[in-house]
Amino acid sequence: MQLINTIKELNSLLESLDKSKTIGLVPTMGALHLGHLSLIEQAVKENDFTIVSIFVNPTQFDNKEDLAKYPNTLNEDISLLKSVSDNLIIFAPNANEIYSGNISSQSYDFEGLENVMEGEFREGHFNGVGTIVEKLLTLTNPTRAYFGEKDFQQLQIIRKLVEIKNLPVTIIGCPIVREPSGLAMSSRNERLSESLRKEAAFIYKTLKSAKEKIGTKSVGYVIHWAKEEFSKHPSLDLEYIKIVDEAKLQAVDTIDKSTKYRAFVAVYAGDVRLIDNIAL
Ligand code: AMP
Repeated sequence: MQLINTIKELNSLLESLDKSKTIGLVPTMGALHLGHLSLIEQAVKENDFTIVSIFVNPTQFDNKEDLAKYPNTLNEDISLLKSVSDNLIIFAPNANEIYSGNISSQSYDFEGLENVMEGEFREGHFNGVGTIVEKLLTLTNPTRAYFGEKDFQQLQIIRKLVEIKNLPVTIIGCPIVREPSGLAMSSRNERLSESLRKEAAFIYKTLKSAKEKIGTKSVGYVIHWAKEEFSKHPSLDLEYIKIVDEAKLQAVDTIDKSTKYRAFVAVYAGDVRLIDNIAL
């Protein structure tokens, strides 16, 4: 296990590695849970070296309060990582190291993927994501980089980033890991009260029912039904529900068998914003 905080240390470590060896990168914002660990385990299996970055990227937060409340649990994270493998490289820089005093995003054209759902409700979010992921990919030059389907829109945007910037890396999408209740694991779940955490299981339950219904009902009907379900729930506040195709993330009216679709939601449980999605 090596803990590295600076780009200089990272560069000298990377230089010391045999160039024929493969590197897996798992970018995270820390407050690690089993969802993150599943990505890291896969990276460890598939590569000679695995780098886990832990960096709460300020430029992807549209809401200062959300950034301020984002959990920081570096010591616990390091213990968890040790339980996965004692051969990991942890890169945990501070914002100044990454942004050299200029904490701002680059502007990207992700061909429309950035304008829907999270992009619509979190202004500038994907410019921030693109900026940090491009920096991390360039700094670590991995063979493969691992991202969760929990943030499926982000995963598609990173695939687009790699395509438009012609970066020599394979992007691997990993399945969503859920709590026993069905709630998608998230660092933000730690901010939920015990009762809200139980109630938030309703999100996945509704997504699963929507998936069942889409076999026999129209897209419009299913969206209407899901909105009604959320509106009846006393403590969850639906921000959006969308049924889109996986490739372009554009809302659809009809489903055809040859195309892949997903349903996406963003939901407030108290002041905690949760996202989830399901393949249809
Ligand atoms: P974050 O620390 O939230 O930025 O997440 C780091 C990576 O872990 C991203 O690629 C996420 O999509 C992924 N991730 C977060 N939660 C889960 C989960 N429940 N299942 C699978 N991947 C996840």
